[in-house]
Amino acid sequence: MKKLFILFLILFQQQLIAAEVNIYSARKEALIKPLLDQFTKETGIEVNLVTGKADTLLKRLEVEGKNTPADILLTVDVARLVRAKEKGLFQVIYSDALEKAIPEYYRDADKQWFGLSLRSRVIVYAPDRVKKEELSSYENLADSKWKNRICIRSSSNVYNQSLVASMIANDGVEKTEAWATALVKNFARTPKGGDRDQIKAVAAGVCDIAIVNNYYLAGMLESSQKNEVAAANKIRLFWPNQDGRGAHINISGAGILKPAKHKKEAIQLLEYLVSDKAQQWYADMNYEYSINPDIESNSILKSWGKFKADNLNLNLLGKYNAEAVLLMDRAGWK
Ligand code: FE
Repeated sequence: MKKLFILFLILFQQQLIAAEVNIYSARKEALIKPLLDQFTKETGIEVNLVTGKADTLLKRLEVEGKNTPADILLTVDVARLVRAKEKGLFQVIYSDALEKAIPEYYRDADKQWFGLSLRSRVIVYAPDRVKKEELSSYENLADSKWKNRICIRSSSNVYNQSLVASMIANDGVEKTEAWATALVKNFARTPKGGDRDQIKAVAAGVCDIAIVNNYYLAGMLESSQKNEVAAANKIRLFWPNQDGRGAHINISGAGILKPAKHKKEAIQLLEYLVSDKAQQWYADMNYEYSINPDIESNSILKSWGKFKADNLNLNLLGKYNAEAVLLMDRAGWK
């Protein structure tokens, strides 16, 4: 009996060692690795992480086809998750835990991708040149009073594509095109750089307003680089569209790939990522918002106050992505 027990233990241990899950992640390693390590510690399931640019990983998955070692694709922006779904990369996942934890509008209607954390694309401004009262909505940024005063990155950036897609969903194509055309006329410069560069440009006086994802501002406020902290302290955050639909929301998220060889472990990992513990980490360390409104935000996020979030179903951002890209091009948004 004792021998049998020992044999059982050895077998059990071997199974623990053998258990693994492979992730292709478009998130920077620092933004996900600590969570994965914790998962391994708690479950014994080894996590192998391959980090790369989102579009490169998508291409790689297409090339590898059913031979891919990856079980999970983790990425940011719903448009990319929808792209992966449209390429037929994901499989349908039935999980009560995922469906219970993630509000309907932050996951795929066909159960192929799941939102794991939230971010908002907000207006930031220079308080010495812009009065808070002058700001109101994304739509308002098309007003000619903002001529030569707005910085924003290029239309090839998926965050902007999703913002425009959300406006198409809310305002329709015609209205959104007129908006984008007028907005482009208000640009202080030809779009360049990432969101942090737009914040720096506002701080440096190149422009008075920028549109950025809010975690960049938080990250700069707590940056180890003094120039980033100084720039971030010079600007303020404004929550757009609070009298209407609310501020534009996007997600980081994941799906399980069709050829996944570790499907059980992959589901287990996604369920771990929506647990309260993991969600608290997203809020504390990544300056993102939890998909669970009961999870308390990081102190910087809290300092920005409560805000009304646009509860648009994110499936629509994928649906209107192609239209958004064409529209921005017609508007002359470089
Ligand atoms: Fe980002």
